[in-house]
Amino acid sequence: MTKNPELQNSKNQFSKEFKSLNIVDPILNAIQQEGYTTPTPIQAKSIPIVLRGTDLLGCAQTGTGKTAAFAIPILQLLSANKEYGKKRRIRSLIVTPTRELAIQIDESFKAYGRHMGLKTTVIFGGVNQNKQTAAIRGGVDVLVATPGRLLDLINQGHITLNFVEIFVLDEADRMLDMGFIHDVKKIIKELPRKRQSLFFSATMPDEIVKLASTILSKPSQVTVTPSSSTVDIIKQSVYFVDKGNKNALLVELLKDATIKTALVFTRTKYGADKVARMLQKKHIKAEAIHGDKSQNSRQRALKNFKEQTTRVLVATDIAARGIDIDELEYVINFEIPNIPETYVHRIGRTGRAGEKGTAFSLCDAVEKEYLKDIEKLISKKISVIEDHSFPLVDHNPVKAPKQQQQQRKRKTGSEKPKGQGKDNKKKRFNKPKKKR
Ligand code: AMP
Repeated sequence: MTKNPELQNSKNQFSKEFKSLNIVDPILNAIQQEGYTTPTPIQAKSIPIVLRGTDLLGCAQTGTGKTAAFAIPILQLLSANKEYGKKRRIRSLIVTPTRELAIQIDESFKAYGRHMGLKTTVIFGGVNQNKQTAAIRGGVDVLVATPGRLLDLINQGHITLNFVEIFVLDEADRMLDMGFIHDVKKIIKELPRKRQSLFFSATMPDEIVKLASTILSKPSQVTVTPSSSTVDIIKQSVYFVDKGNKNALLVELLKDATIKTALVFTRTKYGADKVARMLQKKHIKAEAIHGDKSQNSRQRALKNFKEQTTRVLVATDIAARGIDIDELEYVINFEIPNIPETYVHRIGRTGRAGEKGTAFSLCDAVEKEYLKDIEKLISKKISVIEDHSFPLVDHNPVKAPKQQQQQRKRKTGSEKPKGQGKDNKKKRFNKPKKKR
């Protein structure tokens, strides 16, 4: 959790805004213990809606405080109708695409609900199920789950969703990207018809809007645009460099000892492995994280990075999106993404909750076009660092056939609008293997 120590120490600063949201004292105390003083926009907008019992369609990405926006009112609603003396049963279900997100959501429920006496547990695939089924047998109020493992345990008879009062579908667009949509549809069939549903997605392509309409009933819509606010506080700069010199420039940048940790983005899984190996050879502690790695190895790499035993985490977009790393100051784009929103998602891993953030981008001649799109989206020029050891020499490199094709499509307008449609989505991310 991102905690701002200054705010943590100044209880007096705890804002009237939080109090005005009609949050009960035990949760307010927990929020204060987390060091939060002011609700984020998504929290200020969503908490009253959820507390009223209305369905919610939230257009927001991780990093906006979205977890608390649903966890706080859910905890409050569940505790208001606590069924004393009865065995606990799953009254709220949160479905999220990845194990990392599931763990973070579970931790958030435990943190905000620490004075509420409710029980939360988390289930995900890739590990033995026995501990998870034992926890469920012991009774839980809130279940956080990834789709595959949830369906497995439903099919095995360990879980029933008959008593779910509040259902949350988190990161719906990512579910689609990861091929979980059929699992999600199966899960929805298991839910009682009478329920409150909250649906969150960072983007709203047609398929997501259609899915939302099958889940939600008369929803209130809340949209937050983290992009501009996040982008404003992050120090961004770009280095023009030949493709073949990117490794050397990266190593040079990392000579700066003040960079304790850095998250480096590559476009492909293969690229992530290659960069990590290259850094290791240069005696820079680095690990790669992407969809082809096992759950355990991803989790281990993330843990090492958080504990700063690994200095550089090299990640693909899909593996890194949603990862919440405390005090991450540096994001490095080893390659410039061809979808400008991806750039915003990437740099949004830093500068979270008002902390400092720095983003470097290594841009070769071919990628200059992508940079233009990014600057248009964020409505600002990214400052160019001229003074470095590997200035761009080759201004007209031969483009790879794939890149040529992509650029032609953009120019002729035959590609679907950005962020809309499955085909486009496929280009944005490396589709990881479906995991159960
Ligand atoms: P999320 O979008 O839920 O992943 O949250 C992003 C980060 O913001 C997490 O590290 C939260 O601990 C933190 N956070 C959530 N709400 C607040 C708040 N009101 N004030 C400060 N930090 C917050």
